[in-house]
Order: sequence, then structure tokens, then C-alpha cells
Amino acid sequence: MKCISDLTKEELTKELTGLGEQSFRGKQIFTWIHGKRAVSFEEMTDLSKALRLKLFDRYLICDPGITRIQSSKIDGTKKFLLKLTDGSMIESVFMRYRSWNSACISTQAGCAMGCRFCASTIGGFIRNLSAGEMAGQIYVMEKETGERISNVVLMGSGEPLLNLDEVQRFVSIISDSDGAGISKRNITISTCGIVPQIKSLAAKHLPINLAISLHAPNDEKRRHLMPIAERYSLKELMDAVRYYYDETHRRLTFEYALVKGENDSKKDSDELAGLLRGLNCVVNLIPVNPVRENDLKRPDNKSVEDFRKRLAMGGIEATVRRELGSDIDSACGQLRARTLV
Ligand code: SAH
Repeated sequence: MKCISDLTKEELTKELTGLGEQSFRGKQIFTWIHGKRAVSFEEMTDLSKALRLKLFDRYLICDPGITRIQSSKIDGTKKFLLKLTDGSMIESVFMRYRSWNSACISTQAGCAMGCRFCASTIGGFIRNLSAGEMAGQIYVMEKETGERISNVVLMGSGEPLLNLDEVQRFVSIISDSDGAGISKRNITISTCGIVPQIKSLAAKHLPINLAISLHAPNDEKRRHLMPIAERYSLKELMDAVRYYYDETHRRLTFEYALVKGENDSKKDSDELAGLLRGLNCVVNLIPVNPVRENDLKRPDNKSVEDFRKRLAMGGIEATVRRELGSDIDSACGQLRARTLV
């Protein structure tokens, strides 16, 4: 059965007129699902019983089930293990900042990218998530915490740019003022660097933020950590990223997981500063989260701080990512990996 939560307001309007209904029904049903968060057609009391029945016979409303929640005692981060209709498991994280809440959501079940440090990729790729399944992660977390989410990062499991149609549909749904109304400027897509898709996203001129998982200052080191670097060189990646900036004027973020002895030397930070010079960007340094399945080690705090300072001296602003939920396996597919084994 078709999932009605996957449709944008425009698509829903077309769908309803296709069923012989008046066009305003599209917006009405969209508001029920994405604004009022109805999870059944019975709740839609301003629709006739006949229409509710018609919808019930044809569509599902996406409502991921909570399998587990891990709550950090340190900072209010909550990590959700969710089960989708077909039994696929995904992770989403609720993060509390000073005056707003942010959601980290998954775009695929599993991941095909094979990055050495990442737990999401351990069981391989399962499938793409639909737009409604992405939005559903936010709705479930808002309902469970009783709090509003204003920022979204697509940094859970999966590679968003390999599921770009659904990601774009998700952006349209979640930013719609008849739905959650989350500003596109508060949405960040994180990618390991799929060059053609970065360019096609840029050409759409959406004011969404792009984060690039860089993790290395040169091709050789990057290839050692991320198989995607075999496919696209840093030169091609940086050209695409510059094009993204030219088209959107959104400040870029580069993620850089620091791995002891691999990419955390003085030379690496100088090379990184050289690579990024002239770009309007910020580097997010993440001391790598050791995963049981790999042998990577995190540098000590001093080396991390030294790396940040050297970048700053090279003219590149960097922040060390606050390790939200460090007590709850919050990084990247770890909870799911624990459950699968
Ligand atoms: N596929 C996308 C989005 C998901 S990963 C991407 O590659 O950007 C989200 C971020 O977490 C990426 O920057 C990823 O490289 C990083 N990450 C994954 N595993 C990690 C680990 N064990 N320690 C630190 N960062 C990790």
C-alpha cells in the first residue's frame, strides 16, 4: 500500500483530485498528517466518513515504532532506535542545545559507502528511506520528548545524496508552513562527497546547508579512510563544493574525524588549511568515536586542540564538536550495530 506521508502538499492535492475529490482536500490532509500529526484517518474528523474510508483502503500513514531509547545523563541527548513498517531498523538522535532542539535523522537503512570508521556501514546497505519515513523520525521524537525540533541534520545512517529525490521531497514536506514549518536554512545535508549530486543539488538553489565529510587533507589519506575517494578526487570534490557555494551562498561545513596517527599531524592540519583557504567555511573536528568493529583510536584532547589552533593560525575556523551523548553510543549507527549483533 502507498504511504500517504511521502507526498508533498502539491502531490497530495493532485492525488486527491485524481480520486475525484476537491483540490482543497490535499492541503487539509497534508495539515492533518504533517501539522497535527494524525497517525490514523479516523482522527481526520472534518473529512466525511466516506472519504476517510476511501483513504484507509488506499494508503498508510507512516509512523515509525520506537524499539529503544537511550538517554544521556550528561546532556539530554536521546538516541532512538526505530522500526519501520518492513522491519528495517534505523537510528535518530534528539539533541538539546541552549535554546533549540536539533534532530539527526537517517536517510537510508544501512549504508553502502564503507567508510572505515563508521558503524552504519557494517551490515551494508538495506534500502532507501522515503520522505515520510524521514519526517516520521522527527514527529516520533517531538511526540516522545514533548519538545519542538527546529533544526535538522541529515547525518544519521545512509548517504543522503544517493537518495536525493526522497531527500528533496522530505525538505519540501518538513519546511511547509502547513506542516512542521522547519526553515530550510536550518536543514543540513551531510555527504561523503558524491560529486554529481552535489552539483545537481546546487542547481536547485535551495537555501539548505551542505556539510562535507572530508576527514583527510589529501587524496591518498582520504582513500585510506573512505572508499568514495577512489571515485572522486579532492580536486573534483572541492570544485563541486565551490559551485555549491556560488549557487547558494550558504556557509559550508567540513567534517573531519580525527584519527590518531592517521590524519591528526601538524602536516595534516597545515595541508587542510591550504585546501580550504579562501572558502567561506567552518571545520567541525570530531575526535573519532571508536567503534568495536574497527581499530581506530581517538587522539587525546591536547592533540585535538593543537590541531584546531593550527587550523586557526592558517586562517580556518574550526570547532571541536561537542560530544553530545558520548555516554550512549551516540555516534553513527552504533546503537543499531549493537542490536544487530
Ligand atoms: N553519509 C553522510 C552522512 C552520514 S555520516 C556523510 O558521510 O556525511 C555523518 C557524519 O558522521 C559523517 O561526517 C561521518 O563521517 C561521521 N562519522 C561516522 N562514523 C564516525 C565515527 N566513528 N567517529 C566520528 N565520526 C563519524
